[in-house]
Amino acid sequence: MREKKAMTQIDRRTEKLTTALRRAGVRITRQRAALLSVLAEAEDHPEAIELQRRAEAVVPGISLSTVYRTLTELEHQGVILRHQFEGTPARFEHSEARHHDHMIDVETGEVIEFANDRIEALQAEIAEAMGYEIVHHRLELYVRRKRAPGDPD
Ligand SMILES: [Zn+2]
Repeated sequence: MREKKAMTQIDRRTEKLTTALRRAGVRITRQRAALLSVLAEAEDHPEAIELQRRAEAVVPGISLSTVYRTLTELEHQGVILRHQFEGTPARFEHSEARHHDHMIDVETGEVIEFANDRIEALQAEIAEAMGYEIVHHRLELYVRRKRAPGDPD
């Protein structure tokens, strides 16, 4: 039952991405359709080259430049987010997830999502005090795991 529900959500995301790409006037080839479903399934902020690898495993024959162009169109349509974290190539995620910020582990490159109501409220308060309202924000924390004394380096 749980699996079935998850499938439906992925299908809905795939459809949203497909519609957006059509709206941009891009023809949906089998290769692009594979890329869209791979994007819809991803929960881990993959890079373009990783998306290409996953799409290739479903339907071979998608070039990296097609992946880049497709991602750019999807970004313009507002259905995916591009993250330019320091020290890594751009990473992508579908934009429907509820608002969250990211921590980037500088040692492993792992991206960890978090959301914090106090931070959200504090940011709004700071902007407000300076006569602004927040339109949009990005918060990135660059982190490494704390080690207890005696842990190996
Ligand atoms: Zn994210």
